[in-house]
Amino acid sequence: PKVRALQALSPQTARSLVDSVDAFLFDCDGVIWKGDKLIDGVPEALQTLRSLGKKFVFVTNNSRKSRKQYMKKFLSLGINVNEEEIFSSSFAAAMFLKLNNFPQDKKVYVIGEEGIVEEMELAGFTCLGGPKDAEKTIQQMPNFRIEHDKSVGAVVVGLDLHVNYYKLHYATLCIRENPGCLFIATNRDALGHLTDSQECPGAGCMVAAVCGTTEKEPVVVGKPSTFMMDFLVKRFQIDTSKMCMVGDRLDTDILFGQNTGCKTLLVLSGITTLSALQDPSNNIHPDYYTSNVFSIADLLKK
Ligand code: PLP
Ligand code: CA
Repeated sequence: PKVRALQALSPQTARSLVDSVDAFLFDCDGVIWKGDKLIDGVPEALQTLRSLGKKFVFVTNNSRKSRKQYMKKFLSLGINVNEEEIFSSSFAAAMFLKLNNFPQDKKVYVIGEEGIVEEMELAGFTCLGGPKDAEKTIQQMPNFRIEHDKSVGAVVVGLDLHVNYYKLHYATLCIRENPGCLFIATNRDALGHLTDSQECPGAGCMVAAVCGTTEKEPVVVGKPSTFMMDFLVKRFQIDTSKMCMVGDRLDTDILFGQNTGCKTLLVLSGITTLSALQDPSNNIHPDYYTSNVFSIADLLKK
């Protein structure tokens, strides 16, 4: 990738950036909220951009919720969105199976939460695992043996707060004993937020565990994979050169924006610090960076 100079957003560049795009793609955690807490100034900034006629898409790698559940979260935080504007990695995983004609008589084994299960069921697929296996242990099984369902044709791995040895064992059997079984990761984020008080392990942790036991690499459907963008472009017919991706992670959001031809804006309200951005070892350079979403709208007034 070509090396770009790091540019803090200014009143002039904020204006030209906003003028040059029709749509903003917002990452969620670290940009719109941190865990369950809204980031200051977000509703006001969204209002300003909406009033300028900009379209929004919210793209989150966090697979714990379905699109419908995210709708409720947005509304409870006072942000008005419609379901079509939300692209979660849980939805992306279901769309991936659908677009690849995954047979309805095969099952999906889930390491992950309600969001994945709900999206799979809405797409017509049958799930095993997930929340249903939260309390299972290998010690409960006769001879410590799991007899896995041979009709499992895909294992989907995402963030799972109830990940356990039983689920890892089950997923491992499905993938190792059936060479045709798909291995799909919703995302591989190292860290995220459950609340605003601390960064915590992301889905990368669960995905790495299954890579370790299966010696296979997954298909990733979340950022920085271009899958969600291909889907989004087909559905909305927006050209990516007229989009700006706003995110807080370099190796997911900014890379996703760059991989798909969007303009990119890093906000420092989440995981990435200014010193990490400026570190010589970092080679992912957004077009611009700024402190938070509010500052985009604020700079337009100057
Ligand atoms: N929060 C947690 C706890 C996560 O594990 C992840 C990703 O796995 C995220 C947030 C990422 O969400 P987003 O893409 O909205 O930043
Ligand atoms: Ca984020």
